[in-house]
This record gives sequence, C-alpha cells and structure tokens, in this order.
Amino acid sequence: MKELTITIPIKAWGNDELNNNDASLIAKAREATSRAYVPYSKFHVGAAILLDNGEIITGANQENAAYPSGTCAERTACYYAHATYPDAAFDTIAIAATGTDGKEVEYPIPPCGACRQALVEYEKLAGHPVRVLLAGRDVVYELPSVKSLLPLTFDSF
Ligand SMILES: [Zn+2]
Repeated sequence: MKELTITIPIKAWGNDELNNNDASLIAKAREATSRAYVPYSKFHVGAAILLDNGEIITGANQENAAYPSGTCAERTACYYAHATYPDAAFDTIAIAATGTDGKEVEYPIPPCGACRQALVEYEKLAGHPVRVLLAGRDVVYELPSVKSLLPLTFDSF
C-alpha cells in the first residue's frame, strides 16, 4: 500500500495587491452578482470568464421554483461563453458572492461540484490551465487551474 497526498496551491491576495487585470475581472464578477435571480436562497453569485480573445463573459445564478432547474453563476457564464465564442479558450474565471445580508461574503465561495465538473471540461478544451480567482471581502484566492479544485477528475475523453 502506498499513500498519496494531493495538495492544492492557493495564493491569498489582499484586494489591494491584485494586478489591474485580475482586479478588473473580479470587479465584473462582483457586478454580476446584482443580476442574480435568487428569490429562494437570496444568495447572489457572479462569475466572470476572461477568454483568450479578450472578451469577458459574465453570469449570475438563476433560480427556479423547481429547484434543480436553476443554474449556478459559473455554469451560466461558461455555457454562455462557449455558446457565444466556441473557438475561444477560457483563460481565467473569477467568482464573487453576496450573502443574504446584502454584503460581499467575507471569505471566498468555491464553485459547487457540478460547476467544477463543467468548468474542468472547458479547461481541457482550452488545452492549458484556467486560473480561478475566488473573491471574498478582504481576500482573493488564486488557484492555478480548475483541476486543482477537482483532483481525480472524471474524464471520459
Ligand atoms: Zn455550481
């Protein structure tokens, strides 16, 4: 028997330490939280994806009375991004959230398992790691890839 360990490198940045491009992408994700449709959870999530053609696509969570029919911000953004620019590779995704108190969450909210699985497939299509920026009120986590959020990824192709 051999024991394996998986480590996830995370850089924790202060908002004032971010470079302009990352700060701008996070600002778009924060802005997108205002377009969430969340009558049930009241939890607003926004995502912004930078594509290699320079376009930035945003998405926000969209809920439905039939709960499973709703979609997270990350999948709203990534499906729209690929449906709009099928030839563009994802470069970076930023995710932000506003809690039920109307304020940005103190600590970053990572994507759910379903979104990780969806995003990792677009990372594979990109052919290179897609950086992940998870925004909180006072700290931003930077992960080097979607796969770092989903080790031992299910992969059928
Ligand atoms: Zn999700």
